[in-house]
Amino acid sequence: MGERPTLLIVGAGIAGLSAALAVARTGFNVVVCERATELTELGAGIQLSPNAGRVLAGLGLDNAIAEAAIEPVSIDIRNGTSGTLLASLPVREFRHRYGFPYRVIHRADLQSILVNAVRQTHGVSLILGATVADVLHRDDLYFVKLKGDRGEVITALGIVGADGVRSATRHRIDGARSPTPTGRTAWRTMIPLDNAPTSLPVGGVGLWLGPGAHLVHYPTAGGAAVNVVAIVEEDWDKPGWNTPGDYRWIAERFNTWTADVRAIVTAPTGWQKWAINTVDPEGPWSQEATTLIGDAAHAMVPFLAQGAAMAIEDAADLADCLSTHPGNVASAFAAYEAVRRPRVTRLWNAAKRAGERYHATGTTALLRNLALRAVGTRLTMTQNDWIYRWRPGPTIGDTTPTDAGRL
Ligand SMILES: Cc1cc2nc3c(=O)[nH]c(=O)nc-3n(C[C@H](O)[C@H](O)[C@H](O)COP(=O)(O)OP(=O)(O)OC[C@H]3O[C@@H](n4cnc5c(N)ncnc54)[C@H](O)[C@@H]3O)c2cc1C
Repeated sequence: MGERPTLLIVGAGIAGLSAALAVARTGFNVVVCERATELTELGAGIQLSPNAGRVLAGLGLDNAIAEAAIEPVSIDIRNGTSGTLLASLPVREFRHRYGFPYRVIHRADLQSILVNAVRQTHGVSLILGATVADVLHRDDLYFVKLKGDRGEVITALGIVGADGVRSATRHRIDGARSPTPTGRTAWRTMIPLDNAPTSLPVGGVGLWLGPGAHLVHYPTAGGAAVNVVAIVEEDWDKPGWNTPGDYRWIAERFNTWTADVRAIVTAPTGWQKWAINTVDPEGPWSQEATTLIGDAAHAMVPFLAQGAAMAIEDAADLADCLSTHPGNVASAFAAYEAVRRPRVTRLWNAAKRAGERYHATGTTALLRNLALRAVGTRLTMTQNDWIYRWRPGPTIGDTTPTDAGRL
């Protein structure tokens, strides 16, 4: 039997690690090159919806995720300035409606589950402190030289750029779209439960909408802390997840909001901020045997909490396309791009529209609030069915219980 060919994945974020696990099932050896010298995730949570949960379960990670994650009772949407409850989505029902729960998890927990699985998977290696210095393409093979003293060279049949919104792999693809600043920043912090305002409901996801901003909080770290994210309109654009944010600035920004929100933003002081950039999903993602996945291909605004979910779905579809195009990585990548683009573009646009609704002012905000109260939770849930009902193909396998979808 011949040696398994190698696929190189650049970046060990959620996209790169999920893709490594998925692609390892297709007869490839996988090398993941991560520029960071150690893998540390920022102190923040992440929402994992059923479509992402299905893929992670197919990769054998459901038990580990269930152990580390929390299944919130509801998503409670409130008017951020008056405090009025506009809608309450009973997300605990997702388990029955979609066959997989809606979960929230600490990013560090998700990362260590993925990294442990990668380290235990035959044929996958993870190299830290590894940035691509040079790529030579000859006779269907890529010779990828890594930066550093050792000048290691990896020979691969294809390259998958999972290197995030400011991807360097993108420069290998003619016409690939550059990141665009949105004029919004995400401010994040974690409040230890002991320091959380007593008024803060801790069993569910709280979503507060107001003019030009919104705030989300949910339990994380096994319930020991509350993850808080505030998205505000702010003209600031620097790379990196962890620029310290001045809590006096964010407190001032929310000082006309309801007392519960003010109590949340003034409770912690360890804010970090992140400039939100997007990447237009309509641009090309692939050229020859190089492709992009996750934020590198289609970074979106975080208003539907689906960026990582799309990266995880990308991994599943990429693996399917490699399986169905044996011996031809370039056509597998072209097929992957064709399969993914319509869904990702629909989601990308839906997230953008959600942002406009969340941050609406004046009459538009009034109409939004009336609509949320009138529409009812059942219809709001139905509107999102197309997002959460997505299922992975045969390489990952769909483990949705057969009695799901009764609600
Ligand atoms: C405020 C906020 C909240 C969010 N909440 C949610 C949520 O609840 N649910 C959800 O599904 N999504 C959410 N998202 C989106 C989600 O965080 C991203 O879509 C997801 O993390 C993207 O993963 P990625 O692996 O594509 O990129 P990244 O996480 O950026 O990973 C890229 C990796 O590549 C490495 N790298 C970069 N360049 C190189 C290089 N040249 N060589 C080698 N390695 C390199 C980086 O060090 C990094 O490890 C949120 C986003 C924001 C901003």
